[in-house]
Amino acid sequence: MAATQAGTLYVVATPIGNLGDLTTRAREVLAAVDAICAEDTRHTRQLLGAVGIDRPLLAVHDHNEGEIAWKLVERLKAGECLALVSDAGTPLVSDPGYRLVREVRAAGLAVSPIPGACAAIAALSVAGIPSDRFCFEGFLPAKASGRRERLAELAKETRTLVFYESSHRIEEALADFVAAFGGEREAVLARELTKLFETVLGDTLESIAAKVAADANQRKGEFVIVVRGCEDDTAARLIEGQRLYAKLAEHLKPSVAARLAADISGAPRKALYGGEAV
Ligand code: SAM
Repeated sequence: MAATQAGTLYVVATPIGNLGDLTTRAREVLAAVDAICAEDTRHTRQLLGAVGIDRPLLAVHDHNEGEIAWKLVERLKAGECLALVSDAGTPLVSDPGYRLVREVRAAGLAVSPIPGACAAIAALSVAGIPSDRFCFEGFLPAKASGRRERLAELAKETRTLVFYESSHRIEEALADFVAAFGGEREAVLARELTKLFETVLGDTLESIAAKVAADANQRKGEFVIVVRGCEDDTAARLIEGQRLYAKLAEHLKPSVAARLAADISGAPRKALYGGEAV
């Protein structure tokens, strides 16, 4: 069977660190397409050079994807075949490509996956945290206030949670995880997967945060954080009650805020209001 079919967009996963993770099919397709749409053409040229592939590259990233998609659709309609790659891992997973794939599909053209590396799935596969149901949260908001708000919304989530984080914010982010989910929650910090300094640190959130704060080497590189979902209904209600109480107490008398927060969340009033009678 030919590696590619005319008029098809191939969404090709590339390695997240180890070049050996570029699959045989990915190589065949990348070598056969008319052009490769890449998030960063310089980065992709290096990858292609390392495996001896030389095809025309087109820059397709968050800032031009909307405008360029229709031109690519025209090329596909004319019978070309194209590949889409991102800098690392699977395109569209916290990476550009969604608008292009959507437009190509809307035009009735074929979009075919060439699966391979994805940091979230690689981390989940070694975490030893329930993986039958999980939700991928990707990057949290960069601003501390937005990040804390999002984590507070997720505190009651019972499925395993998977996050991406960069070295700039890992320490702050872990401190926010502890505050939102409690220090005892089980988690795994997967760093530099498939690379020289691959580290998979499994422990409570509090202990992971302490190890990362104490060792600058543990703050280098790229990270996936896998957090066990909330297991205990009582704990979930308490977390939600505390979150509501903190918001309501900004506008209401503490006793009223505690009563409302307790009614809505099901948490005991006393636990929300410093044990005082309310
Ligand atoms: N599309 C990619 C994928 O399939 O995983 C993700 C791209 S996103 C822009 C980059 C983020 O993925 C990094 O900030 C980090 O959170 C995570 N990541 C990528 N490579 C990684 C690796 N080798 N080890 C751990 N995390 C990684």
